Amino acid sequence: MIAAQLRDENGRQSALDRYAVLDTAPDARFDAITALVRAVFEVPIALVSLVDRERQWFKSCDGLEASETPRVWSLCTHTIRQHTPLTVSDTHADPRFRDSPLVVGPPHIRSYAGVPLTTPDGYNVGSLCAIDTVPREFTESQIEMLRDFGRIVIAELELRQIAQSDFLTGALSRRGFVSRLDAAIEHRFVAPAALVTFDIDHFKPINDRFGHPTGDEVLKQIARACAESLRSGDSFGRMGGEEFALLLPDTDVTAALAAAERCRRAIAALSIDVGEVLKVTASFGIAPLTDAVADTDDWLCHADAALYAAKAGGRNRSRLSRPLAVAA
Ligand code: GH3
Ligand code: MG
Ligand code: MG
Repeated sequence: MIAAQLRDENGRQSALDRYAVLDTAPDARFDAITALVRAVFEVPIALVSLVDRERQWFKSCDGLEASETPRVWSLCTHTIRQHTPLTVSDTHADPRFRDSPLVVGPPHIRSYAGVPLTTPDGYNVGSLCAIDTVPREFTESQIEMLRDFGRIVIAELELRQIAQSDFLTGALSRRGFVSRLDAAIEHRFVAPAALVTFDIDHFKPINDRFGHPTGDEVLKQIARACAESLRSGDSFGRMGGEEFALLLPDTDVTAALAAAERCRRAIAALSIDVGEVLKVTASFGIAPLTDAVADTDDWLCHADAALYAAKAGGRNRSRLSRPLAVAA
């Protein structure tokens, strides 16, 4: 196993974002692990905590009502700074934790054992922890067991990611992407977001002329160019065939148009060598998450309508969904 990279916070955040797991619905596979930790350790609380920019968010929490807490309060943010498990037998005796609102207030954490959740590429994205409301020691064999459970958590996150990614391009699968859209709709009153869909222009002739494997290679290169043009919090999905989509959180219309244009230019700038050098373009539709959007399907329809307008307008361009103005 590779040692965790503890000083690369941007890389760590990207590794967490790649799992596309934050704010997703509860999952029985993770709940089974926290239930086991609770039973084996005989503690009132067990958590799968993922440490996001400003918060820790619980993929599973057994024995706790909250779904997240500020990062600065959390003990788990200390766990992810080390290679080894963190154990605290009495928070009241530890100056790092005795003033934490999670110690002085609910859930009144008094003792803690957490193992870092280390990704295969060496980033501590969170922790699996057992929490008690009374002081206690944790034995070495208990900690070893917690480590094993932590490895299962990471394996589950990896499997979940594989199930949600498109094999050819590495983008999110349609299913994975749509679950991100569902989560954005659920949080629509908290943060603005924009959806961009795009479709390769005149892709069929490439397949017809050079064959399907070459078409696949073109799709891969387009996906890579697009992914490289995105921010770490953005999601990129393959909706099917040669149609892709971007979910841009915390993004207003102007910034969404700029992101779509960045991606469009990155694709148009590619020179793909398939024996001869190919140039490709794509057409983009942009739909901000406005009150006019009823649900996920409706949001996709808004973006697709704008995409069709971009096709009809001559291709290799971006269009905003109505009733917003047509982009330049
Ligand atoms: P337009 O500019 O109107 O989008 O024209 P187009 O030729 O791109 O549109 P059309 O929908 O007719 O063609 C899409 C093509 O994408 C047809 C299909 O064979 C091809 N395609 C779909 N999925 C894959 C895939 O996984 N690999 C390859 N190589 N081709 C695919
Ligand atoms: Mg198409
Ligand atoms: Mg096409």
